[in-house]
Amino acid sequence: MKYGKKQLQAGILSKIDNLKHGFGTRYSRPDRKSFPFAEHIIAMEQVHGCKIHDIKAEKNETGNNRQITTAGQGDALVTGLKKLALAVKTADCVPVLLYADLPVISAVHCGWRSSAARILSKTVTYLQKHYKIKPGKLRAALGPAICGSCFTVGPEVIKAFPQKLIKKNVNYFKTDYNKYKLDLRAVLKQELAELGLSPSNIEIINRCTVCHNQLFFSYRLEKEKAGRQWSLIMLT
Ligand SMILES: [Zn+2]
Repeated sequence: MKYGKKQLQAGILSKIDNLKHGFGTRYSRPDRKSFPFAEHIIAMEQVHGCKIHDIKAEKNETGNNRQITTAGQGDALVTGLKKLALAVKTADCVPVLLYADLPVISAVHCGWRSSAARILSKTVTYLQKHYKIKPGKLRAALGPAICGSCFTVGPEVIKAFPQKLIKKNVNYFKTDYNKYKLDLRAVLKQELAELGLSPSNIEIINRCTVCHNQLFFSYRLEKEKAGRQWSLIMLT
């Protein structure tokens, strides 16, 4: 992992020739100052669901100079097109960036609701079906998010996950009456491994939005005042 004030990068994605990516911080903006590679950004109106938008044609509906197009409501973006930077915005949720050597890329917003609805499985299955990728060739980087020590949840969150993904004393722990600590990135890593990704192709950027709040926005700490960090991935 490379450190910077405006963006962090995953080693497994930064070695790829035809790919640019970065996980933003509270100091970055969706512009070329923060992400020099990003000419045209595709974002979503994230709704904690599991709808996937596959971007097959470049179009700039907003016509503004910042060149940010919104794909509509959804929580995963996919494209095989070059020069389109797929964006995911987070402040505690997990930004997941995916790459397969077709090439095809994806940016996924994994909060607990979309994760419990298995948005990562749906995205990987979509890539298999529509782009014929092999999960064993897929690379995944999980960005800064609330860590397993900071993420206190109630039983309704634990119960929302499929039983096979959630493992007591492995990726969640009971801490008090009806209180649990959930390591969402550990759950997602296990899900990706079960989908056939090699553990060596999954990288977690081990920074917590609460523990490292000076560098990242956290919804849990800052509530409505919290901004969002943008994370981008783009084929060149
Ligand atoms: Zn933490």
